[in-house]
Amino acid sequence: MKITKIAAYQVDLPLHEGSYNWSGGKSVSVFDSTVVRVETDAGLAGHGEVCPLGPFYLPSYAAGARTGIAELAPDLIGQDPTELDVLNRRMDRLMKGHPYVKSALDIACWDILGQAAGVPLCTLLGGRDGETVALYRAISQEAPEKMAARVAGYRAEGYRRFQLKVGGGIEDDIARIRACAAELAPGDVLIADANTGWLPHQAMRVVRAVRDLDVYIEQPCLSYEECLGIRRATDHPFVLDESMDGIDMLLRGHADRAMDAVNIKISKLGGLTKARRARDLCVEMGIALTIEDSWGGDIVTAAIAHLAHSTPEPFRFTATDFNSYVTRSVAEGAPARKDGKMAASSAPGLGVTPRPEVLGAPVFEVS
Ligand code: MG
Repeated sequence: MKITKIAAYQVDLPLHEGSYNWSGGKSVSVFDSTVVRVETDAGLAGHGEVCPLGPFYLPSYAAGARTGIAELAPDLIGQDPTELDVLNRRMDRLMKGHPYVKSALDIACWDILGQAAGVPLCTLLGGRDGETVALYRAISQEAPEKMAARVAGYRAEGYRRFQLKVGGGIEDDIARIRACAAELAPGDVLIADANTGWLPHQAMRVVRAVRDLDVYIEQPCLSYEECLGIRRATDHPFVLDESMDGIDMLLRGHADRAMDAVNIKISKLGGLTKARRARDLCVEMGIALTIEDSWGGDIVTAAIAHLAHSTPEPFRFTATDFNSYVTRSVAEGAPARKDGKMAASSAPGLGVTPRPEVLGAPVFEVS
């Protein structure tokens, strides 16, 4: 099989809540997503999506994704989309770094492989484990009482895992964690994600002030070393996210016993090929996983669902259904949340069909 054509589409994804706010005053109101379509000489077409969390979260931005895809695409024409490791080595040879640029291309080729094999991606990624995947809800940073009301509202919709966006003033952050914890029942999961927003002395004050609460601490500080210092000074379960951007950091973190769970974002690693590798390594090392991406719509959510559903259930700390945060649907067949859970499609490949009227005309195509 050969790739004959690659097209990219730009889609705006507004939010039901109006905006999404996290540490340091960072905020996005309309996400800028890129959908990639890869066509083949076998008549199969696969789709992928990449959507950075604004230009100021990871070293990635939406226009950069499209520029990078346009740079790589001509050199992928004629390649076999079902030879995923070969294809990834080619992309890495053509362009050093920039994992997010390669993510949507890799996802689209996995979609083709699944369709060619006649099985859902979760089968190829290790096999569907269990009936559903439990989701978390990210609680955008607001005043403590507003965040507590959001937790109560989303809890009523079925979510049982909540990730609070903190990193916005120490006294307020302590109040945020306490107010939200008061809304929860035994068995619920609370995560305070500072998204690198605390200095070490601030993180120390927060973990001390909430020591009586059952709360996970996620990526409190900017650097790995700062986070490790906090990890060693607290007995809260600990999640690393922004620092865990590749296999070398996962191995280093494991050697240091720096985390109990890691957040695997598909585009942070460079696509499903590399995210699966990281997932499998974490499972072997006994590290639990949040499976998600930086952001996205229906296609990203479908990719998350397949990777999460093929992750052994005890290791599935949580996952994200981004398509329920945004007001625009880019594809039919994507996972639909029910009672705070989702399931990967049982259709071949990703199991999604993009909506041409939402994608509009391609921003570029090469053949
Ligand atoms: Mg995080």
